[in-house]
Amino acid sequence: MESEATWRLAAFLGVLAPLLLAERLIPWGGPRPLGARRWAANLGLVALGAVLVRLTLPLAAVGAALWAQRADAGLLNALDAPLWLALPLTVVAFDLLIYLQHRVFHAVPALWALHRVHHADPELDATTGLRFHPLEIWLSMLVKMAAAVALGAPPEAVLAFEILLNAASLFEHAAIRLPPALDRALALVIVTPRLHRIHHSEREAETNSHYGFCLSIWDRLFGTWRGHWEGELVLGVRDWRAAEEQTLPRLLAQPFRRRRGQGQASFRPR
Ligand SMILES: [Zn+2]
Repeated sequence: MESEATWRLAAFLGVLAPLLLAERLIPWGGPRPLGARRWAANLGLVALGAVLVRLTLPLAAVGAALWAQRADAGLLNALDAPLWLALPLTVVAFDLLIYLQHRVFHAVPALWALHRVHHADPELDATTGLRFHPLEIWLSMLVKMAAAVALGAPPEAVLAFEILLNAASLFEHAAIRLPPALDRALALVIVTPRLHRIHHSEREAETNSHYGFCLSIWDRLFGTWRGHWEGELVLGVRDWRAAEEQTLPRLLAQPFRRRRGQGQASFRPR
């Protein structure tokens, strides 16, 4: 666990670099006029989120799991579950938790205002997978810390899950078009870029589907699966799609602002 930061950075760059290359080799093909001009803002949000978590929740999820292990707290520690069992259980349980958290962020208006910053990206590429308001990153960390303690999750498993979640987020937002047969085969188990694209549609019914991050099974199980989509979608959130809204200061302020001429945000998923 001492080399945790190295593992995280290596996994991050090891996934991001091939995806950026793949976006050139097998691009999705839809128009992306802003392209790399969104990158500074998208990367700025995730960097600020990391700083906020480091300053205010220095234990983070892995630290919380270490604490629970030493205190013999949480379900898996109480059961003395072996690592070979506790690790996959933790990864699957955390993926379900993040699926449920994602649905809550769509359902509660104040949380949607935070999560909308992610959805308001008018284009999708791997960097969209990093574009989350720092307060959403912070709240999500609190949830993961609580879950790590309650579950008695092994610290190695929490680290593995966080690396996996990060990689999955980069992958499913990437503007790549996989061969259809491969896409369909992968989609049986994991969320593919084509599936997750539907979640970024401007249309409410489509946004309120495909909430999964790693495993695609949760959407099938809980009735939020809409199947495959072949055509082009209008991406982003109406009223927040404009190029001038895609700067770091505007994105940070977006949850607390109202669009001019509006009583309230006109788009609010259920
Ligand atoms: Zn969402």
